[in-house]
Amino acid sequence: MLPPLFDIDRMNTDVHWLVNDIGPRVHRSAEERAARDGVVSRLTEAGWTVIQAGDSPVACRGKGGKLFMAHVDTVAQSPGAVDNAGAVAILLELARTTSSQDLCLAFPVGEENGLYGSRILAESWNTLGLAPLALVVSLDLVGDGTPTGIDLDAPWGGSELNWLEDHTEIDVPYLHRAFGRALPQWRSDHAYFVSRGHLGFNLITRSESGIFAHYHQPTDTTVRTDSLVAVAAALEGMATAPTPPRSQGDPAVPMGGWVFPGWATWLTISTGFLSGLAGLPDWKSSIGDLARAMVAGVLAAVPMYALTHMGFPSEIAERTAHTQMGISPSGWWVTAPFAIGSAWLVWLAAWRKLPGHGHPALPAAIFAALGLLLDPLVALPFALAAVLVRIHRLFGLIPVILLMRPEPLRELSFHGLLEPVFWPVIFILAWPAFGRGTRR
Ligand SMILES: [Zn+2]
Repeated sequence: MLPPLFDIDRMNTDVHWLVNDIGPRVHRSAEERAARDGVVSRLTEAGWTVIQAGDSPVACRGKGGKLFMAHVDTVAQSPGAVDNAGAVAILLELARTTSSQDLCLAFPVGEENGLYGSRILAESWNTLGLAPLALVVSLDLVGDGTPTGIDLDAPWGGSELNWLEDHTEIDVPYLHRAFGRALPQWRSDHAYFVSRGHLGFNLITRSESGIFAHYHQPTDTTVRTDSLVAVAAALEGMATAPTPPRSQGDPAVPMGGWVFPGWATWLTISTGFLSGLAGLPDWKSSIGDLARAMVAGVLAAVPMYALTHMGFPSEIAERTAHTQMGISPSGWWVTAPFAIGSAWLVWLAAWRKLPGHGHPALPAAIFAALGLLLDPLVALPFALAAVLVRIHRLFGLIPVILLMRPEPLRELSFHGLLEPVFWPVIFILAWPAFGRGTRR
C-alpha cells in the first residue's frame, strides 16, 4: 500500500527535475553532483539526517535493518528517466511520507561505472554504526511495466518468498527465479551487499515484452506514473513489514500469490528420476531418439534462421541490443513470432514422421540430472516432464515450451545471452517427446 500522504505530483516533479532540468548525469560530472546535492537537500528537508559513504548519500531511521537504493548517475547522453530517475524520485517521496520507523535509503553514485558507489557503501557499512542489514533492495530500471524481482538467488527460500508475497505485489517470473539461483547476474547496486551474505534482490519494472527497449539510450526520457506508484507501494509494503526471515534457501518457486515449496521441488525431481529409471534397459533406443530429435531440430532451424536473418527493418529494441550487447540487428525482433511459429510447424511435422522407440522418461531424467548440476530449479521442468510423459509423450516438451516463445527468446537475445542464430538449439531439449509413448 502507498503511504497515506504519498504525493504523486511531487514524485513526478522530482523525475522532471532529474530528467529535464539536469539531464544526463555521468559519474563525476557536475550534473551527477547536482543530482546528489539535490537528493541531500530533499532528504534533509524531509527530516532525515544524511551521511556520506564515499560520495553517496545515505539516510537512516530507527535500527535501519532494511536498505533501499537508487543510483543517481546515468550513462553519457541518456537523460535516464527509467534508468534511474524514476527510482530516485520514488525513494525521495517515500522519505517524505513512509510510515516505516526502521529504514535506510541510499543513493549511490557511479553505478554505471562498475557499481562504484555501492561497492564503497557495502564495504564501509559496518563502520557507519548501523544495524546489520536484513534486506537490501536495489531499484534499477523502474518506470516501464509491473514491479518484478530479479536476481533472487539461493538464499531466497520458501520463507523469504512467502514474506515477499505477503507484503508486496512483486512478480518473480519462473525463468528469472531459476536464472537468479543458477546464474545470478548481479548487475546492479545490490551486488556487493549480496556477495557479502545479505539477503537482497534487484527490483525492476518489466514491460509486456520483458525488456526496456530504451536502455542506456538518448530516448530514455519518460516514465509511466502507474509503474512508479506500483513500485512505491511494494517498497512501502516491505518497509513496514516485520524483518524478513532467514531460512536455508530451499528451491521454492513463487507462483503469483502463492509459493510452490522447496520440498515439492525435491519431491518432483526424485519422482522424475524414478520415472526415468524405467527407460534404462532400453537406453539404446533412446540414443536413436536423440538422433531423431537432432534431425527435427535442424529442419526447424531452416525457416527460423531464414526469417530471423531476412534483414527486416530493425526495431528500437534490436538497435539497443546491437549497441549494448553486439547482437546483430538482422530483423529478429519483428520476425520472432513468425520464425518461432514456422519452426514449431516444421518441428511437429518432423516429429510425426519420426516416431521413436525409447522410453520418453529416460531423456527427460537425463536432462533433469544435468540441470541439477546448475540448480534444482533448472532440473524441475525436466523432472516434471519425466513424470508426465507417462500420460503423453508430448509432455516431454514442457521445458521447450518454457523457452521456445517470442518473449523469452527476445529477452535472452536482448541481454546478449543467446544470439538468434542459436535459438533452434533449444529444440534438442525436445528429445523426450521422441519416446515411444505409453502404448507399445
Ligand atoms: Zn541503472
